[in-house]
Amino acid sequence: MRLTRKVFSDLAIFMGIFGFMIGTVFPFFVTLLGVPSDYVLTLPFFIACISAGLIAGGVNYYLARKVVGSRLIILSNVGRHMRSLAETMRRGIHQADEEELTVMLSTEELCGKMGCQIEVDSDDEFGESATAFNLLAQTLSRTIITERAAHSFSNMLATQLDIEPLADKAIRKLMLYTNSVGGLLAVVEHGELETVACHVISDVHSVLRSDYVKEAINSGETQIIRLPKNAEIVLNHVIGEHNTKYVIVDPIVYKGVSLGVIVLAAEKDYDEEVIHRISILRIGLGLALNNSLTHGRMRLLATQDPLTGVYNRGFGAKRLNEEFQRAVRGDSPLGVILFDIDDFKVINDTYGHLIGDRVLIGVVKSVRSVLREGDILTRYGGEEFLVVLPGASSVDVAQMGERIRHAVKDMQLVEGSQSIHVTISLGGVSHPELNVSQEDVLIRHADEALYRAKGAGKDRIEMDKSGFKPLLNSVN
Ligand code: GH3
Ligand code: MG
Ligand code: MG
Repeated sequence: MRLTRKVFSDLAIFMGIFGFMIGTVFPFFVTLLGVPSDYVLTLPFFIACISAGLIAGGVNYYLARKVVGSRLIILSNVGRHMRSLAETMRRGIHQADEEELTVMLSTEELCGKMGCQIEVDSDDEFGESATAFNLLAQTLSRTIITERAAHSFSNMLATQLDIEPLADKAIRKLMLYTNSVGGLLAVVEHGELETVACHVISDVHSVLRSDYVKEAINSGETQIIRLPKNAEIVLNHVIGEHNTKYVIVDPIVYKGVSLGVIVLAAEKDYDEEVIHRISILRIGLGLALNNSLTHGRMRLLATQDPLTGVYNRGFGAKRLNEEFQRAVRGDSPLGVILFDIDDFKVINDTYGHLIGDRVLIGVVKSVRSVLREGDILTRYGGEEFLVVLPGASSVDVAQMGERIRHAVKDMQLVEGSQSIHVTISLGGVSHPELNVSQEDVLIRHADEALYRAKGAGKDRIEMDKSGFKPLLNSVN
């Protein structure tokens, strides 16, 4: 039964009516007790009784307001706070869209000084309401924290395409969102797990070889590990200085295939909420990782010669240009060799195209074995290759040319009962001994030298005349 829009106003009206009724009925009640009606059924007595009824009603109203109302005020204040909390969260989520979150919000920070919890100090409906309210508030604040984390995480994933920065940021954020002290992300490459990002974990190999990781990859299911006391020492060694006992191994799955694995380690046990949070975040990670891996493979395909795996002509030319610019800027030499397999047509005609392909692969392998890190090998044409040697003078170029020539000549290639002998001819040049303003000119000079090497009987290196000083060119 409602009279106004306010419960306490209704209560005041009811208390007033009740007091008035009691005051009106009381004199008649008194006559039943034997008091002569002349004494009590008088106007002053009626006024006194009604006044007493109204006062009792007023006191009742005051007490109800004081005892019950104060509790309700707490609820309504916290409720009001919850509304502003929801607002703050929404703003926080938009903010997370724009900037990268580097600190994880705690429930306390989210709820402010006032807190989202009400003290439960009674065993009645009020106590139950407060408990229910606290549960609701806790669930809401946790959901908001997870939602904020998911927003920030998705934003990050959407802006990263290269695998390494993606994995690095992902693992940092996951550590933050799960209160972990260490973490790593590894991807499956050619059937092996390769670490792409790692923080604090020192013995990555032991971790990746563990049964938990194998199980996670094979089953596609999260492994939550609470290590027994003695195992802590093993893990301490693995994780570093931290006193880690709790580990989560989470496979990164895309379309039912495990693309990799996340390992997170913490000093405190992971609670349900954190495990739930990871399960949400890893969905987006699977998609992003798949995109990143595909992108990486596509990029590799665009730069690679599919048969030999070295750079293709287009990318090799780009790399030569970069090295040339660097050499000019740094005033350092740059060597270039062009080499071509001798009588390759005969090899093809004698053994067939497939064996010809094997020869090309074998030549690349032999040449790679003598190159230094930083040297660049490119398939420049059918059976013609370009080698860029940063820092090499013409003397170095001639020496490296000889090493390459010998490496190919010494290559053992057996086809049935016959062994295939392969030789190459090379043309070399070095900048700035041959001072040019464009790298194409270096290639032209190397090509001319190669042409001379072919003309002079093959299986040899010829240096560009203008660049070459001492002669190391010997055929044996
Ligand atoms: P020279 O010593 O003068 O270089 O003679 P050559 O026979 O090596 O040169 P030529 O240009 O006459 O023949 C090159 C051959 O290389 C012809 C072509 O069919 C073959 N070739 C080019 N690319 C490939 C390839 O990817 N695989 C195979 N098997 N053969 C290839
Ligand atoms: Mg040839
Ligand atoms: Mg050729």
